[in-house]
Amino acid sequence: RARCSYVGRFAPSPTGPLHAGSLVAALASCLDSRAHGGRWLLRIEDLDPPREQPGAAQSIIDTLAAYGFEHDGAIEYQSRRNAHYQAAFDRLLAAGLVYPCACTRREIADSVARQGQDPGRHAELVYPGTCRNGIAGGRAPRAWRVRVDDAVIDWTDRSGAAFHERLAKEVGDFVLRRADGLWAYQLAVVVDDAGQGVTDVVRGADLIGSTARQIHLQRLLGHPTPRYLHVPVVTDAHGEKLSKQTGAAALALHDPLPELERALGHLGLRGTGAVTLGGFWRAAVCLWRAAWVDPAASPESVRG
Ligand code: GLU
Repeated sequence: RARCSYVGRFAPSPTGPLHAGSLVAALASCLDSRAHGGRWLLRIEDLDPPREQPGAAQSIIDTLAAYGFEHDGAIEYQSRRNAHYQAAFDRLLAAGLVYPCACTRREIADSVARQGQDPGRHAELVYPGTCRNGIAGGRAPRAWRVRVDDAVIDWTDRSGAAFHERLAKEVGDFVLRRADGLWAYQLAVVVDDAGQGVTDVVRGADLIGSTARQIHLQRLLGHPTPRYLHVPVVTDAHGEKLSKQTGAAALALHDPLPELERALGHLGLRGTGAVTLGGFWRAAVCLWRAAWVDPAASPESVRG
């Protein structure tokens, strides 16, 4: 079947219930899909059991439904897609693009410090390539990393921000399979976005730093690169991103309109003043279309 010209998705990790921050990402991706007359998929990124909160996936699904979100097709679960991640990993392995690494986080931090960099300045340590040509001293492999070689990733966000990233300098060879045996988010998200035919990724700006790595993997695996739009994250009174870890409150199921209006305002759009969910969604899609969709490129087939 022909691929849809627009496929978007919301891909929450079930580490806690939907909160005001994740609502903004869900709303932006759903409005963008509707404004383009496209499909909107829901994918539960449950590939990290230790960080998962029991019941969170169902709670997110129920909250989205109560807020008037309607996803297309069946909900996808990353926990059921192991074979796809393994197949992608095996292809990269056969091509000589991944290798085992025995380094602990501590060792990487020490090695980075020895090279005169301040490891504290980078939230993420740049891997110095210690095991790239084999693990020294017969130590056991822990994680598996993909080579970045001299890849330079140029990409432009739909917000207009342009990025030029030399992966060796920004992150180094990065992990695809973690020391605990779990697949890394970067691999799973690339395999799934390609497998589901996603054309447009709309998500929080906290993931801007992951985009170059994902484009690198898309290129190695021969997948198309979707368009990207990163929307502002919601921060708390201390300027921290709202997250389950910082104790963001779950959204109440009743009275969704004020929360939806707040989320829309966070996306830079004015209030709809709607008094019903249906009215909110119709008005919000129009506002989003005017702000983000090229009128010449947008089909008339917008649901309302
Ligand atoms: N699962 C990721 C998260 O909840 C989002 C993945 C994505 O949108 O690419 O932070």
